[in-house]
Amino acid sequence: MLHVTNLQKTYDTGDEALRGVTTSVEGSETVAMIGPSGAGKSTFIRCVNRLTEPSGGEIDLDGTELTALDTDDLRAARRDIGMIFQEYNLIERLTVMENVLSGRLGYVSAWQAFRRSFPPADIERAYEILEQVGLGEMADKRVDELSGGQRQRVGIARAVIQEPKILLVDEPTSSLDPETADRSIPVLINIHEVNLALDHADRIVGLHDGELVFEGTPEDLDEEALDRVYRGADVPDTTTDGEKPTETDDQEV
Ligand code: ADP
Repeated sequence: MLHVTNLQKTYDTGDEALRGVTTSVEGSETVAMIGPSGAGKSTFIRCVNRLTEPSGGEIDLDGTELTALDTDDLRAARRDIGMIFQEYNLIERLTVMENVLSGRLGYVSAWQAFRRSFPPADIERAYEILEQVGLGEMADKRVDELSGGQRQRVGIARAVIQEPKILLVDEPTSSLDPETADRSIPVLINIHEVNLALDHADRIVGLHDGELVFEGTPEDLDEEALDRVYRGADVPDTTTDGEKPTETDDQEV
C-alpha cells in the first residue's frame, strides 16, 4: 500500500506544484486523481516513482520510504512500481511479446537482460497476460503495427508481468481497464475525464492548485465537490454512462 504524507514539490522555476498532499492507496482499490490542468496530478505521480524529486514529505510503499533511497536502492524499488504512461514507452520495432517481457528486466541478470533472454516461466506468464488483455493472437506482431488501444493494452500487460506493488497510470485516453488483467494491487490513475474516474475508481482524490481539496467515493463527488476541484475551470465531461459523447452531442442544432 502507498502512503503519501505532506508531499511538496516546488520546481526550480518557483512553481509550487504540490503544497503538502497527504493521501493513500490501499488493498486492491483503484484511486483516480482528478483536477484541472496544472493542479499537480502529473507531478504527484512522477514524485511517487521519483522521476521528479519531491521537495518535501514522505512516500511509503509497503514499508519502504521512497524519498530516502539512493540510486541503487531506487532501481530495486522501481521494480515494485508499475507504470503505464500516456505514450506507453513501448519499443516500436520490437514485438508485443518482447515488449511485455521487458517488464521482467528488473528481475533477470544484466547478461540475460542484454541478450533479452527470459526464463520459460516468464514467457508462459506473458502469454497468459496477453490472453487476459485480449492480445493472445498478437504476440509476434511488431508494436508499430498496432492500434492505439492495443498499444495501451501492451503497456498494461508489461506493467502487470512486472508484479509491482502498485500500478501508476498517467492520463489514460480511452477506456483503460487495468481490471481486465487479474490483479490484487492498488492502482493510482491520473485521469483527465471525470466520467472515466466515476466509472473506474473506488475512490477519487481531487487536486486544485497543488492542494488536496476532495477525497471520497464517486458517490461523494457532488456538485459542490466538483466546484471545489475545478473552481472556474471547465469540468471535463461528467457523463456517467462511460460513453464518450460524439461530436454531434456538443453542437447546437
Ligand atoms: P497536471 O498534471 O495536474 O496538469 P502538473 O503536475 O503537470 O499538473 O503541473 C503542476 C504545476 O507545476 C503547473 O503549474 C506546471 O506549470 C508546473 N510544472 C510542471 N512540470 C514542471 C517543470 N518540469 N518545471 C516547472 N514547472 C512545472
